[in-house]
Amino acid sequence: MAGNLFIVAAPSGAGKTTLVRLLLEREPGIRLSISFTTRAPRPGEQDGREYNFVTVDAFQGMISRGEFLEWAEVHGNYYGTSRTWIAGRLDAGDDVLLEIDWQGAQQVRAQFPAAIGVFVLPPSLEELARRLQGRGTDSAEIIARRLAVATAEMRHAGEFDYVIINDRLEQALADLCAVARAARLTLAAQRARHAELFARLF
Ligand code: 5GP
Repeated sequence: MAGNLFIVAAPSGAGKTTLVRLLLEREPGIRLSISFTTRAPRPGEQDGREYNFVTVDAFQGMISRGEFLEWAEVHGNYYGTSRTWIAGRLDAGDDVLLEIDWQGAQQVRAQFPAAIGVFVLPPSLEELARRLQGRGTDSAEIIARRLAVATAEMRHAGEFDYVIINDRLEQALADLCAVARAARLTLAAQRARHAELFARLF
C-alpha cells in the first residue's frame, strides 16, 4: 500500500471527533473514511457526511457479502468500514484516517500491520466524568454507566502506537498533527509522492 492508514480511537468524552476534524483541516492530504452505521442520525448529521446511515438488514447484507474491512457493535449499534473504498485510496497513494473503536482497530491491524494507531485519552478520570456530564440533564446512574464504559474502552490504549492526552485542545491537536506529519515524511511516503525526483536520484 502506498498511502498511510491512520486509526484514531478514544472513549466518548475524550474529544476525538473535534481533534480529527481540525487535523483534517490542517492536513488536507488525509482522507476520512465515512463509516456505515445502523444508529439513527443525530440532529445536524447528514447521510454520507458523518456516516452512511443504513438499516440493520442492509448492514447484515454487507457483512455477508464481505464488504467490511472491519465491523463492530458499539453501544448497541453496528458500525463498519468499507473495504473497497479504503483499498482503492491506499493503492492510489492517499493517506486514509479511520475514526473507529478499539474492536475495529484490532481487526484492521490484523490486516494492515503497518496501520498507525493513535489513542486519545482525557487528562484524568475526574475530567472525563465532568465532560460526560454534558449539559447536566442526564441522571447520575446514566453518567456512572457512561464512565464505566469509557474506562473499559481506555484499557485498550496499550494496543496503540501513539497516545494523545487531550487536556488543552491546541496542544492535543499539535501532537496529533506531529504524528500525522511524521508518518507523511517517511522515506517510503516521500518516495511515492515525489517519484520523479527519486527516479533521478537512485
Ligand atoms: P458515535 O455513534 O458516537 O458517532 O460513535 C460511537 C463509537 O463508534 C465511536 O467510538 C466511534 O469511533 C465508533 N465507530 C464509528 N465508526 C466506526 C466503524 O466504522 N467501525 C468501528 N469499529 N467503530 C466505529
